[in-house]
Amino acid sequence: MIAPVQEHYYAAPPRIERGWRHHLFDTDGRAYLDMVNNVAGVGHSHPAVTEAVTRQLQLLNTNSRFNYEAMVAYSERLAELLPESLDTVFLVSTGSEALDLALRIATTATGAEHVAVVRSAYHGWTTATDAISTSIADNPNALTTRPPWVHLVDSPNTYRGSHRGEDAAQRYADDVGRALAEVHASDGSVAAFVAEALYGNAGGVELPDGYLSAAYAKVRDAGGLCIADEVQVGYARTGDHFWAFEDHGVVPDIVCVAKAAGNGVALGAVVTRSELADRFARQGSFFSSVGGSPVSCAAGLAVLDVIRDEDLQRNARVVGGRLRDQLRALAAKHELIGAVHGKGLYLGVELVRDRGSLEPATAECAAICERMLELGVVVQPTGDYLNVLKVKPPLCLTASSADFFVETLDHCLTTGW
Ligand code: PMP
Repeated sequence: MIAPVQEHYYAAPPRIERGWRHHLFDTDGRAYLDMVNNVAGVGHSHPAVTEAVTRQLQLLNTNSRFNYEAMVAYSERLAELLPESLDTVFLVSTGSEALDLALRIATTATGAEHVAVVRSAYHGWTTATDAISTSIADNPNALTTRPPWVHLVDSPNTYRGSHRGEDAAQRYADDVGRALAEVHASDGSVAAFVAEALYGNAGGVELPDGYLSAAYAKVRDAGGLCIADEVQVGYARTGDHFWAFEDHGVVPDIVCVAKAAGNGVALGAVVTRSELADRFARQGSFFSSVGGSPVSCAAGLAVLDVIRDEDLQRNARVVGGRLRDQLRALAAKHELIGAVHGKGLYLGVELVRDRGSLEPATAECAAICERMLELGVVVQPTGDYLNVLKVKPPLCLTASSADFFVETLDHCLTTGW
């Protein structure tokens, strides 16, 4: 009865009924190293999250129009983690909701309707977030079917994008300028520019230095707002900072959060400046029944405690750095690995048939993921050509499990798939 279009991993998926830290267990008792689960950011079945949620469920779980402590406490904690200007929190349940609401805030606050988005991106499944999703892996017709208010800008990918040299950041930022000029030339006005600060869907590709600040400046000059989608790459994952945008020294106007925020309990947020929230209020009230419910906020608070108490940001930096170094060493041994992207515990291992032409090794990537499952590792393809192994495990990944992943990939690439 499940809609066939509903995605699932693997041709013959194992039945997974348990998870613990960065491992999953199937009903035959097999353990798998989970290298993809950035939703379970602090690890599967974390006792602190279980306890907080259980306790809250026993007390109260209701819609967010009531007055209870967890919502205030979580909103305060979240805002404290963000730059001072981002002081107003909206609570929702998912990433799609967060991006959808961010678009509504931007269009209402600016009175404009046009939105610039980078290619190869995914921002959600609702009508508006689907409209700004440009990944041709998710939707092969994405580039030709965007509505007129969506303007595509070049994917700032210095590995396989249109600019790869030293001036790439400026050239990609110029392309943002070109898209904004197009809007003005057609008598439109710009509401927002939406981007991830580490290019998740493209395969964990790092943005060239200076790109985001130059792009943000152009968008603001054009009267638009800058929306950072931190749904995948935020929450301590990149290691140096809590938020990926901090790596680029920029302050967005609107930040969207979800996935890891609740460690699998539905929780998302939009954080913005109070003056933008006030302008949004002119279009009526806002309410999402279980967005910010007592249980989801209790989960959200427990997750933030665990990230702090277990020093998971540092773990992302240290174990992620070790993993990246080892994967890069593996690239010297196996021609198929064209590049290792990303930072912290958001990495991408890009597979190519030819390092000159960069022909994507799509079929190989799919087969390698199936073989890795047999060898006890869950890893999945991503990127426009589904030729990048996405590496975004729970933040509690240990050094020995990182080594196991590299050894298993080495074994797979050496003995075949
Ligand atoms: N933004 C990004 C960058 C995402 O990766 C996703 C989900 N993959 C979303 C938004 C949408 O989040 P959700 O699936 O929670 O609606």
